[in-house]
Formats: sequence, C-alpha cells, structure tokens
Amino acid sequence: MNTPEAPKNSQRIQVQVAVDTDELRTWAGKHADAGNHGVAHALYRAAERYDDQIIDLKQLRKRLTRATALLIPLRNTAEEWEALPCVSGYRIANVDSDDSQCLHCASKEVLNVLDALGGVL
Ligand SMILES: [Zn+2]
Repeated sequence: MNTPEAPKNSQRIQVQVAVDTDELRTWAGKHADAGNHGVAHALYRAAERYDDQIIDLKQLRKRLTRATALLIPLRNTAEEWEALPCVSGYRIANVDSDDSQCLHCASKEVLNVLDALGGVL
C-alpha cells in the first residue's frame, strides 16, 4: 500500500487512539453494583478485548521494527546495484532459466517491491 503524498505546507503526525480499559472496568463495576449485569459484562469484555488489541499492536510494532532493520541494508544494496548500467541485452543467460536479469534490472524490481510496502522504510 502506497502512502499518499502529503500536501505542501503540511506535516505528518502520528496519532494514537486509545481506550482507558481501567475506566471501562470502573464503569463495569458501577453497573454491576447497580444491578445492570448485562451492561457490566459488556464493559468487562470490551476492556479485555481492548487490552488484547494493545498487546497485539505492541507485538506487531516490534516485528515491523525488526523487519525494517533487515530491509534497510537490502535497500542500500539494491540502490547501489541499480546505479550500475543495464546490461540486459548482453547478459549470459542463466543456465536454469531464460528470464535471468542483470543486477540493474533485478535491483529495480527489488526497489519497486520495497516502495510498494509504502512507508515501511
Ligand atoms: Zn538490466
């Protein structure tokens, strides 16, 4: 997914939307005390689900950080090789395949894939 380009004179900011699950549980307790058990149950379950999502998001963020660290050297190498002249008309074909590519063209494809990851790097 490509990240849309920001309009001129604009700034990209990171926004985090969060639900205070302790507050949900406090309200669940109040409803339980008042005998509204269905509402209390729904609020307790909602708090559990939001807590699970927060844990999942933290794990996802860690994995993305690790993946990004691995992709940076790949991008750097691909950029170096892409700068080489294209020799696709003069290459020696791969013995096992007819679609061998020169470093320039293969690197260009790698960079296209990395760009398609949109905003990861
Ligand atoms: Zn080429």
